[in-house]
Amino acid sequence: MARCPECAGKMEYESATKSLICSSCGLSLKRSELDDYWKKIKRQNIDGDDEYQQKKSRRKEWLEWYSKSKAEKEKY
Ligand SMILES: [Zn+2]
Repeated sequence: MARCPECAGKMEYESATKSLICSSCGLSLKRSELDDYWKKIKRQNIDGDDEYQQKKSRRKEWLEWYSKSKAEKEKY
């Protein structure tokens, strides 16, 4: 089920207008418009204040994965 990017309400598909309509705030978007909307929101989140923290945690995850896979390789 699609979520409303504005209020996180349930979006219901209306075949008459080929749009998704939010049952909470009434926002109406085409499927592709909704995808664009979410992409924009995700980009905003990445560009926000959390960017540094996200980069840091991503690097940490990568290092953990790397050392784990290295340890697994050494078993063989
Ligand atoms: Zn909504």
